[in-house]
Amino acid sequence: MAATDYKFEGWLGLDASAADGKMVWGEFEPKPWEETDVDIKITHCGICGSDLHTLRSGWGPTNYPCCVGHEIVGTVVRVGSDVKNGLKVGDRVGVGAQSESCLGRKGDECKACASGMENYCPRGHVGTYNGVYLNGGKSYGGYATYNRVPAHFAVKIPVEIPSAEAAPMLCGGVTTYAPLKFHGCGPGKSVGIIGLGGLGHFGVMWAKALGADKVVVVSRTSGKKADALQMGADEFIATDEDKDWARKNAGTLDIIVCTVSSTSMPLMEYMSLLGMDGTFVQVGAPDDGLPTIQQFPLIFKRLKLTGSLIGSPGDIREMFELAVEKKVKPWVREVPMKDANKAICEFEAGKPRYRFTLVNEPEQHQQGKL
Ligand code: NAP
Ligand code: ZN
Repeated sequence: MAATDYKFEGWLGLDASAADGKMVWGEFEPKPWEETDVDIKITHCGICGSDLHTLRSGWGPTNYPCCVGHEIVGTVVRVGSDVKNGLKVGDRVGVGAQSESCLGRKGDECKACASGMENYCPRGHVGTYNGVYLNGGKSYGGYATYNRVPAHFAVKIPVEIPSAEAAPMLCGGVTTYAPLKFHGCGPGKSVGIIGLGGLGHFGVMWAKALGADKVVVVSRTSGKKADALQMGADEFIATDEDKDWARKNAGTLDIIVCTVSSTSMPLMEYMSLLGMDGTFVQVGAPDDGLPTIQQFPLIFKRLKLTGSLIGSPGDIREMFELAVEKKVKPWVREVPMKDANKAICEFEAGKPRYRFTLVNEPEQHQQGKL
């Protein structure tokens, strides 16, 4: 298929009102083609909390028009002559929240890229949407028909994982997998997951798959308790329903991954759940920053407060292997791509149980009707 046989079209945010369900369908200009790129015909794309932050310019001014979506699954339809990772036309691949890093191209060695931690590349990290590639092109995400991306950031998906389930793993999944792995989640560890949304539900399943002794979900109400237990959680704390929850559970956890993105979250109470030398990993990213931190809980228990950014292509491959080995099954509802505006409104209202995956209907593609 020649490059001109297909159009890059998608749901475009034109201003901050897009986050209220006002994205408009339209054409966009993908990055100028390079021979290290692939083009992907998108079949699926998950909806991530970050899509909403970006659509509403929550993290700073968004470069509109912006097509969000960074949990992309599709079929490779074009492969550049310099693509080195063996991708071929017809391969089923996934693209997560990052689509470029410097990969040492800026001359001197980049420690992050050289060690397989492209997500921490300080000089060339380009987001899959709302970013600018090293060649000057804008990045557009996966609420769309096609995606053009440097092949290094397109990962082959194991046959065992259905596309609708692979999609949310590419950001929501790896964002919880990577810190749990990095901070030693496994036998002998008690792990807390705060916020049972898209990221949180993956966190529970990865912690169990990695062999943690105990997984505790911290949620606002008991509404998701049955689900959490079904996902493999051992205990459940409903913070709005027990005013003594922090004291009762103090010092019981080794690692916490916090997916909450509210500025008014009870951060110090969450941290009090850690025991000596415990690690608190913040992955949720509130528009207006974190609450104030008090020093003594950190000092008295030698706690570590840290963050974590998505995962590298290598992390994504490793996560897929674990998902296949341990039969990790995300809770996903498929939603037609045409209903993306409705779906983001439902997402904002906290409706997903626990991720929505947008699906392109093949016949609509063929008729050019999407
Ligand atoms: P989500 O599905 O909406 O889940 C967030 C969960 O947080 C909710 O399900 C809810 O859980 C809890 N929550 C919401 N409002 C709260 C409040 N006011 N106080 C306490 N808890 C609250 O969103 P997501 O897709 O998982 O994304 C979560 C955050 O992670 C977003 O900020 C997103 O941008 C960020 N993120 C970061 C990275 C990274 O690399 N660090 C990557 C992807 C996403 P309960 O109902 O259980 O309370
Ligand atoms: Zn994301």
